[in-house]
Amino acid sequence: MTETGNHPGGRACAGLTQEQGQRQVFCGLTSIVWLHRKMRDAFFLVVGSRTCAHLLQSAAGVMIFAEPRFATAVLGDRDLAGMADCNEELDRVVNELLARRPEIRNLFLVGSCPSEVIKLDLDKAAERLTAAHQGRVRVLPYSGSGLETTFTQGEDQFLTTLVEQLPASTDAEPSLIVLGTLADVVEDQFRRLFDQLGIGPVHFLPPRTGDELPPVGPGTRVLQAQPFTGEATRALIRRGAERIDAPYPLGVEGTRQWLQAAAGVFGVPDERLESVIEAPIARARAALERQREVLSGKRITFLPDSQLELPLARFLSAECGMQPVEVATPYFDREFHGRERDALGDGIRLIEGQDVDAQLDRLRADRPDLTVCGLGLANPLEAEGLRTKWSIELVFSPIQGFEQAGDLAELFARPLVRHETLKV
Ligand code: SF4
Repeated sequence: MTETGNHPGGRACAGLTQEQGQRQVFCGLTSIVWLHRKMRDAFFLVVGSRTCAHLLQSAAGVMIFAEPRFATAVLGDRDLAGMADCNEELDRVVNELLARRPEIRNLFLVGSCPSEVIKLDLDKAAERLTAAHQGRVRVLPYSGSGLETTFTQGEDQFLTTLVEQLPASTDAEPSLIVLGTLADVVEDQFRRLFDQLGIGPVHFLPPRTGDELPPVGPGTRVLQAQPFTGEATRALIRRGAERIDAPYPLGVEGTRQWLQAAAGVFGVPDERLESVIEAPIARARAALERQREVLSGKRITFLPDSQLELPLARFLSAECGMQPVEVATPYFDREFHGRERDALGDGIRLIEGQDVDAQLDRLRADRPDLTVCGLGLANPLEAEGLRTKWSIELVFSPIQGFEQAGDLAELFARPLVRHETLKV
């Protein structure tokens, strides 16, 4: 474990401790579970092992009645030993898939640990296959490997690949890209709010179909909806876009400041902003009040999984009265997470990275009322009498925006209420 002070390329983050050791997180392939639902004309072909296929199948569930839009091209022992030409095999699998599924317009070749270990060049494969199926399908590569990354970083890699495909714009007129997957219902709510504020044109990335890729250029302003979109944001900045500095839209305050930051950049008068958000804020505060009764004063620890940990802890502490004990994040982005770290204030143990055994020792000593962790740790911790919340549920659920603030708080209140109900 190492204490960190000033970080190159970013702001100081005193009090953040880096840990290295064994990690207990899902890999980036998991993000396919929500990405394939979001982008409806895309197909995700994992180039991986049987382990990758099992992970995907169990994380996404078996779709018996629908044709799934993801699959695994399994590398066999001969491929892994370098005895077969994997490229030929991959081309055959892709050709068969495209012949069987003519509706696929965007095919993502998703790299895995095995494909990276044998150095299978998916960039070249994607170029070759795009040329072979010219005009019919766009083939794009990205990595979902778990060698270095956690599960939400799979989306960041996916978005970074998409950014390279965006058409260039020379238009200096401002337009907005909201970056990071949001549930459709949340996206629609935000679109209505931006309309009422007079902010536009607004694009969401990823879009619902590959035909809706937004243009990018000097007029583009980027508003991150998810904290795990750092690489994609940097890719947009390289293409001329400017990032709007804002917290993430979780809870009433996060959402208010997120909209306020966009309103400031687009020259929306304060009175107009206040009149648009007044009613949604009142509804959100009323919904939060009910959950506050359960959550107030309760101690919470976050194990590092999704990069949502800091903004969630900020929301739970400031708006629900919870007391974060330890907040761990798999990766602290020095450029984009400093604001959330500052909003948390002092007196909270902040950790970047993971050494799972050391972390579990601290957790057992702290015994918080609630622990947010991955699926693999939840059951053993429950057996030790600790209440848990699955971190992955927070990525799958619609939690952003005013209308979801009460539901977000309820996700944390539910395990505590259940525990009280079951007490004898
Ligand atoms: S990509 Fe790596 S970590 Fe993920 S399932 Fe495949 S082998 Fe496991």
